[in-house]
Amino acid sequence: MPLTDAQGRSITYLRLSLTDRCNFRCSYCSPLSAEQREDPLSVEEVARLSRIFAGLGVRRVRLTGGEPTLRRDLLEIVAAVGAAPGIEEIALTTNGQALAALAAPLHRAGVTRVNVSLDTLDPGKLERLSGRAASLTRILDGIRAAHAAGFSSVKLNAVVMRGFNDGELGDLARFGWSAGAIVRFIELMPFGEGVPVPIAEVKALLEAQGIRLEPDDSRGWGPAYHMRGESSGPGGPQRGLLGFIGAMTENFCDGCNRVRVAADGTLRACLGGREKAALKPMLRAGASDEAIAEAIRAALFAKGEKHDMAGGHPLLPMIGTGG
Ligand code: SAM
Repeated sequence: MPLTDAQGRSITYLRLSLTDRCNFRCSYCSPLSAEQREDPLSVEEVARLSRIFAGLGVRRVRLTGGEPTLRRDLLEIVAAVGAAPGIEEIALTTNGQALAALAAPLHRAGVTRVNVSLDTLDPGKLERLSGRAASLTRILDGIRAAHAAGFSSVKLNAVVMRGFNDGELGDLARFGWSAGAIVRFIELMPFGEGVPVPIAEVKALLEAQGIRLEPDDSRGWGPAYHMRGESSGPGGPQRGLLGFIGAMTENFCDGCNRVRVAADGTLRACLGGREKAALKPMLRAGASDEAIAEAIRAALFAKGEKHDMAGGHPLLPMIGTGG
């Protein structure tokens, strides 16, 4: 029977965190420090989980983290996920720092879509937000390489923060179009520092910064919806799609189709919830595929109707859950 939760939503999309480690230290996220040891799922464990999830009806897998490109065995992992019968698409979310060299091999290994996080086009601000390891030049090279590698989509994720990047939303949109990418503006969720800007205000800021917005019917696979944008501002006329993800002010839980597995092998039914199942100990203690599938079903059945991220209960760190 296909995987559904108690609300009858069918779960077809797995977000798999490959590591808690990250070379960036973004203040709205909270990566593990380099000294903290982790024991992430091995290639074989990822392969087995992929087969189990595919058997339950999962069709798309997004590899995330932490920073997934820090895994030396990333290409083997991609191949292992792709070998699971039923998996139709593999996507990757990355900070882009290592993408210039990895884009073509990842595409050859079977990744079809790439999302790159890009919150600012100002190198000094990027360094203040993400730490000294973050190089805007390398990220932009990575985005160009992704475009050249032929992924079916390259998207740029920009988390909007008041007083940080709310003055450069128009420039981010124009940059995305010029790079052949859709920029998705994301409402800050309360995992770390920063002041959120509601999506309605993000749209008003885009208009004020020279981007005319019109409704568009096309939707992403997940919580993002699109609008058509047009700019007559700096650099001449430009147009294209923009994405909006309003986790806090535009609740989209009705259409939730996803499940997450954190780097420590814990299934999390909801980013803002506490329902979970420890899959790694089961994998390592010789549990059968059926027993693991049953644990997955049970955790999803316990999932609530809506996330409660604004409810004030302490959230599990984004980095541990897999963004
Ligand atoms: N390291 C990779 C990256 O930078 O894209 C993948 C992991 S990161 C946790 C995945 C996504 O989560 C990024 O696009 C990041 O901007 C987003 N993210 C992290 N913390 C967030 C927060 N507090 N609110 C909204 N999005 C957040």
